[in-house]
Amino acid sequence: MQKKVIIIGSGNAALCAGISALEQGAEVLMLEKAPEAQAGGNSRYTAGAMRFVYHSNDELLPLLSNPDDERISHTEFGIYTAEKFGEDLMGFNDGQPLSLHQKILINKSYDTMRWLASHNVKFDPIYSRQTFEKDGKYIFWGGLTLEANGEGVGLVDAELAEFQRLGGIIQYECEALELLTENGKVIGVTCDTPHGEYEIEADAVVLGCGGFEANPELRKKYMGENWVQSKVRGTPHNMGAGIEMATQIGAQFYGNPGGCHAVPMDLNMPNYGNLDIPYIDRKNYRKICYFLGVMLNANGERFVDEGINFRNYTYAQFGRAILNQPNGFAWQIFDKKVEHLLYGEYRFWDASFVEADTLEGLVTKLEGVNPKQALATLQAYNSAVDTSVKFDPTILDRKSTKGLSLNKTNWANTFDSPPFKAYPVTCGITFTYGGLKVDERAAVLDGNDAPIEGLFACGELVGGVFYHGYPGGSGLTSGAVFGRIAGASAGQV
Ligand SMILES: Cc1cc2nc3c(=O)[nH]c(=O)nc-3n(C[C@H](O)[C@H](O)[C@H](O)COP(=O)(O)OP(=O)(O)OC[C@H]3O[C@@H](n4cnc5c(N)ncnc54)[C@H](O)[C@@H]3O)c2cc1C
Repeated sequence: MQKKVIIIGSGNAALCAGISALEQGAEVLMLEKAPEAQAGGNSRYTAGAMRFVYHSNDELLPLLSNPDDERISHTEFGIYTAEKFGEDLMGFNDGQPLSLHQKILINKSYDTMRWLASHNVKFDPIYSRQTFEKDGKYIFWGGLTLEANGEGVGLVDAELAEFQRLGGIIQYECEALELLTENGKVIGVTCDTPHGEYEIEADAVVLGCGGFEANPELRKKYMGENWVQSKVRGTPHNMGAGIEMATQIGAQFYGNPGGCHAVPMDLNMPNYGNLDIPYIDRKNYRKICYFLGVMLNANGERFVDEGINFRNYTYAQFGRAILNQPNGFAWQIFDKKVEHLLYGEYRFWDASFVEADTLEGLVTKLEGVNPKQALATLQAYNSAVDTSVKFDPTILDRKSTKGLSLNKTNWANTFDSPPFKAYPVTCGITFTYGGLKVDERAAVLDGNDAPIEGLFACGELVGGVFYHGYPGGSGLTSGAVFGRIAGASAGQV
């Protein structure tokens, strides 16, 4: 008999689960809390960048929307091995070995990209942010190579089109409130719609309805008081409902409850992401080129090694580092030499910045900052730069400072080319890392590690995939990998 599957949420993870359940021959109903114009969750806000294992250009070509792009013949894509993906994740595990979920993410990453491509979801090389040009070639760095054609909006639109082409039905303005159970098995959900509350029964339910990053109360509960003041980069709809509904029926909360992806954002950005703001503007509030300069806090001091690694490996942690500074803000400082390397977001019409022809003049314009200490920090930094090493942003160039209590390990240039520019930044939370525990079938586990019959989960609300940090582009891949597994499992109950 045809199985009935309910999928909650309509972002990347939910849509992958939906497509996968449809492949099993199930009847699939997707419930989305937001109206149609705001559906697609955080996935729509993304750049669509996806991290996955690959060993050659040939493995990339079948994924591309335009494999005949003339740039491809003079591009060095490099390779990204399972070992390197593992090392990158382990780098944020605080000494813990790779979790089961991380191993699944790595091992299924390429196969899942091929599966997406087979479902008309195609990708483009990320020339604008992941390459530097050197000797007439585009050189990719940081293991992150492709983004969905049309970025996050293109990804969700392509997945939704495929979901509907295969027969999936989506209902907007339908908020899942509670899981219905019978003898410990999940048999459906209660939901709230503009026409009132009602129950829908199913053979299986897949939770793909995001983390709790947009819920200040849950942020305070799991992450601490200061997270109440964080800005939210994405959808206002991810209030942790999936995690709450599942834990109410005995599911285990798992992973690092205080862990999250949070990045430096323009201090004056809106408090939430908002799809009414044009897509390009939403993206442009981000400010992640700190590796080309330094960051100063209110005391006028540096507080992180801005060049400790490629920015893919630091940007998701540096939002937290900024939030932890006095009054939760910082200023990013650059000089003219590196201006052409700053991402387009620094040239955004609404970007907040100040500029001056001298460092002395600049520090007086840094609102909220101790100017005397700021100048002393910049001068000490300038004196500590190793000028014998050549600056090269395509590699970890080891052009560092020497002798500071907090050195900058790579890309340390002296501030000597006016005008000097400074950008005020704060913390924007992207998504949370703690969530539900699932097994290798993406079945949600209870407090005794036993699967809760009929309940599966995927995407942001799965805990144990990321702990203390995140190699950029892994969130969408995780959603696709676990979404595909969850949908297949739900379609076979
Ligand atoms: C600005 C930004 C840029 C990003 N860039 C990237 C990137 O380039 N690469 C990358 O890998 N990751 C990126 N991320 C992270 C990425 O967005 C997430 O990892 C991923 O999109 C999560 O997908 P998801 O399907 O789990 O959740 P979402 O896409 O957030 O979908 C959850 C859905 O559930 C719905 N929902 C919530 N509660 C309910 C309820 N009770 N009932 C019904 N529906 C409900 C929400 O409305 C939403 O539509 C970015 C995030 C942001 C905010």
